[in-house]
Amino acid sequence: MAPSTNEIVEQLTALLGSKGVLQNAADTGRYVEDWAGHRRGQPLVVARPATTEEVAAVVRFCHVNGLRMAPQGGHTGLVDGALPAETNDEVIISLERLNRIHAIDPVSFTMEVDGGCILEDIKQAAQREQCFFPLAFAAQGSCQIGGNIATNAGGLNVLRYGVTRELVLGLEVVLPDGRIWNGLKALRKDNRGYNLKQLFIGSEGTLGIITRAVLKLFPEPEHTSTALLAVPSVEAAVQLYGMARRGCSDLLSAFELIPRACLELAFEAASQLSDPLACAYPYYVLMEASATGPVDLDTMVEQLVENAMEASLVLDGVLASSAAQAERLWLIRESMLEGQRARGHHLRTDIAVPLSRLAAFVEETTAAVEQASPESSVLVYGHIGDGNLHYNILPPPALDDTAKTRLLHELEEIIFTVLDRFDGSISAEHGIGRLKQAAWLRRTSNDELALLAGIKATFDPDQLLTVGRILPAPDIR
Ligand SMILES: Cc1cc2nc3c(=O)[nH]c(=O)nc-3n(C[C@H](O)[C@H](O)[C@H](O)COP(=O)(O)OP(=O)(O)OC[C@H]3O[C@@H](n4cnc5c(N)ncnc54)[C@H](O)[C@@H]3O)c2cc1C
Repeated sequence: MAPSTNEIVEQLTALLGSKGVLQNAADTGRYVEDWAGHRRGQPLVVARPATTEEVAAVVRFCHVNGLRMAPQGGHTGLVDGALPAETNDEVIISLERLNRIHAIDPVSFTMEVDGGCILEDIKQAAQREQCFFPLAFAAQGSCQIGGNIATNAGGLNVLRYGVTRELVLGLEVVLPDGRIWNGLKALRKDNRGYNLKQLFIGSEGTLGIITRAVLKLFPEPEHTSTALLAVPSVEAAVQLYGMARRGCSDLLSAFELIPRACLELAFEAASQLSDPLACAYPYYVLMEASATGPVDLDTMVEQLVENAMEASLVLDGVLASSAAQAERLWLIRESMLEGQRARGHHLRTDIAVPLSRLAAFVEETTAAVEQASPESSVLVYGHIGDGNLHYNILPPPALDDTAKTRLLHELEEIIFTVLDRFDGSISAEHGIGRLKQAAWLRRTSNDELALLAGIKATFDPDQLLTVGRILPAPDIR
């Protein structure tokens, strides 16, 4: 017989101490609401283990008692993966207390960290050793490395350093029955058989709980050159990207597309910002090149801008002349997200298209969206160097919540249908979770689903860990 909630709290408290278990609504608030504050779940209890052994003990307890469980990192994933199910039957395992940086090896350029370390803390610890951990995006102050690995996160520097999958050398994982798999290798080359590590990366917590990782580091860039460039169109931005890679010795580390509407949202959200250019332009590229050693980046970037202006790919621009000015340019990129959030319920997507077809995709999709809902506002921005776009939509403010939800759902399907024709991906960042599941299932073949379900059944035959994310929950209760 399943234990009562009181018994669960009592036994978990015996394993983790009173700091390790939260059950009252007053204490569990921040674990149950999604980042945007639109959706809430209802956990049975929140467990907060502080060591790998404690994670394993909680998982063993849940496994023996047939309790469903889900790991939670910084809760910034946005597809309801870490949000507790509304059925009030899940133990949420928060990794926030498992947050030690164990070692940094500046000779091998590696570091070993707990799964609950905040990404920003990892970056700063690496920097103190003149090293660089390149994963970077707006949620880095709250997301955890375990969550980043579970979602194979990308971000601003992917075009130079790759996604998380390319930044992880080894993992330690608690399996769904409480066994601990030790794959904490620090090797750059290791071809022994199947690569289990890669299976866990991007599995959104459905195959195991990441408790420790060995990460790849890089030399800390000594120089960066940052520019905000006005471009006439998305097509011009794509052409500029190729020119910039060639013209800057492939030292580009970020290349972001920003439409004018997003600049306006940034100004709304951060009153200290003002337009860095004299006139308004339809699109902007925020680009950065970085290097160590004796490289004259500024001259390289200045030459690039000159050539791009001659080719009419750039209309105007500003090159940051100080670190403070570069920071202000990046603040535009960060603040536009706050500005968007302040507009309330809207459609967020994180899609990918082959770069050579990106401009045509945006044109075709925008025509379809504007025809379906002329009063909605389209915001297209993102890490276009990776073909990764946020094709987001602000609905007409006059609509009530139900009408907004219906409209945004219809518009999402319009975007995804065009995306299918362009061989794109409906999830290039946040994963599938529960929010993207229906759209993903419609686009995945039965053969592929059967293979994926087989993998899930091998790791979690009792279907207890992070159930209902990516694959639907089996109809067993
Ligand atoms: C403002 C903003 C900007 C963002 N920008 C980008 C971007 O540019 N590029 C990009 O790729 N993503 C971006 N993201 C999404 C990003 O992927 C997630 O924020 C992050 O990687 C998830 O980490 P988290 O710790 O918050 O995980 P959570 O949201 O807590 O969890 C995400 C999933 O991982 C699982 N999980 C969490 N921890 C573990 C663990 N230790 N072991 C196993 N499974 C675990 C959860 O069960 C859940 O299914 C952005 C998000 C926000 C809010």
